[in-house]
Parts: sequence; C-alpha cells; structure tokens
Amino acid sequence: MDEITRLKEILSTSRRAVFFGGAGMSTESGIPDFRSAGGIYSETLHREFTPEQMASHSFLMAHPAEFFDFYRRRFVYLSAAPNEGHRALAELERRGILAAVATQNIDGLHQAAGSKTVYELHGSIRRAYCMDCGARYALSYIMEHTPIPRCSCGGIVRPDVVLYEESLDTATIEGAAAAIRAADTLIIGGTSLIVYPAAGLIDAFRGAHLILINKTETHADARAELIIRTPIGAALHAALP
Ligand code: ZN
Repeated sequence: MDEITRLKEILSTSRRAVFFGGAGMSTESGIPDFRSAGGIYSETLHREFTPEQMASHSFLMAHPAEFFDFYRRRFVYLSAAPNEGHRALAELERRGILAAVATQNIDGLHQAAGSKTVYELHGSIRRAYCMDCGARYALSYIMEHTPIPRCSCGGIVRPDVVLYEESLDTATIEGAAAAIRAADTLIIGGTSLIVYPAAGLIDAFRGAHLILINKTETHADARAELIIRTPIGAALHAALP
C-alpha cells in the first residue's frame, strides 16, 4: 500500500485529527519563507541586516520606518491564495475528521480556505493594533499608511504577529496543546520542527497516528508511523477519504 492510500485510511477512522503546519504549507501558495531573503542592506541606515534582525521587536522600536518597509515587502503577499492543501484541511474539518489546525504561518490562508479552528502560533498579518491604546486595525491600514502607520492617538499601529524577541500568546499555545493532546491523529506538514514551540507541542501528542509530510528529515521522523515526501498540498488533497 502506498503512503497516500495509508493516510487516507487513517483519516477515514480519525475523529479528532490535528494538522500542525509550517512555512512549507504556504510556499505552495507562492509565499517564500522570509528567512530565505538573506542579508538586506538598508540605504537609510547604511548597514546590512539579517531578516531575523529586521523582524525583531528592537528593530521595530529603533527603526520603525525601515521595519514597516521590510514588513510590507517581505511578510505581506496580498495576491496569495489558499492551495489544495488548505482546502483539503478545511474539508476534513467540515466532515468532522479534523478538529483543529495549528500553524506557524501568519498569512491567514487556512481561514481563507474555510478552516474554523485555527491556532495561529505566530499571529496573523490580517490583524494589527495600536501599541499605545490597543485599538484594532486591519492589514489595509498598515499597507496604506506609509511610512509609519499611526493610530488617531498617535501610537504606532503594529502587526499582530510575533516578532523575534517577543513571546507567543499563551492562550494560543495552550489551545493548540489541548487540541494535540486530545488528537487521535497528528499530521505535521512543511515544518522543520525547529522553531519554538513546535517541538514541545509535538511531545503533547498521545494519539495513535503520527504522520509527517515534509521534504526533508526532521527529528520526529523516528516516531512517525508514516512519512510522506511529496508536496503537502497534493498529498492532503489526494488523501481526502
Ligand atoms: Zn491608539
């Protein structure tokens, strides 16, 4: 039996499956991993920065204009659409097979595909808020107000994403952990499992079927019942029971 057929069989008996996904899920929608950008030379600051430095809390505070310029160009892909993998996961949830999606991605494509229970561990580009008064804003506000988007109170309107040096939202991590703890099947796709808190969340899994869909090896491979090396979107679509 091939791997996809086996996955289909597992899903047909699952009732509380969870999908845990990373950047690989969205590269198939044309969104590159921002870390792949390499060093970036800032003309205004006369210095080269790594993508991680530019996506950090201290960079936002010290150089907000450069931060937002980088953010608009490297984090926001307005034309990106859900791929067949996103759509398959939404369909699995509608059918009562999948309980939740936990994602490291910030693009909102799972919700765009119709998924309802989505734990966005690193936040979402779709949301923004004022750092001073907390007022909520949409992504369009950041895109339209250059160079630095400001609230009516004068505060900076920042994206609701977790930057380097910042901690993750506790309620979101706990929600994802609870879903994984209760899951009968855990599918991990498109993530190296290196970025915090991925590894810890995987350890919460007590269910019967651990499935990995990833191009390269991860440290969880040894624990997996099934390892699929084909692209995630095609694999999930083909595995719909
Ligand atoms: Zn404000």
